[in-house]
Amino acid sequence: MNNGVRANSLALMSNAFHEFCDCMGVLIGWIASGIIQADWGPNIKYTYG
Ligand SMILES: [Zn+2]
Repeated sequence: MNNGVRANSLALMSNAFHEFCDCMGVLIGWIASGIIQADWGPNIKYTYG
């Protein structure tokens, strides 16, 4: 295999991994915001105001 193809496939792999991490970050943020809204959101006792 020549180096160009190997480098290109490595770039694709690292890009795919990066996209996967982005996806996980979004998912974790979404779950965390759901947990925050469920348990720690503003209510009568603890408002943001
Ligand atoms: Zn990204």
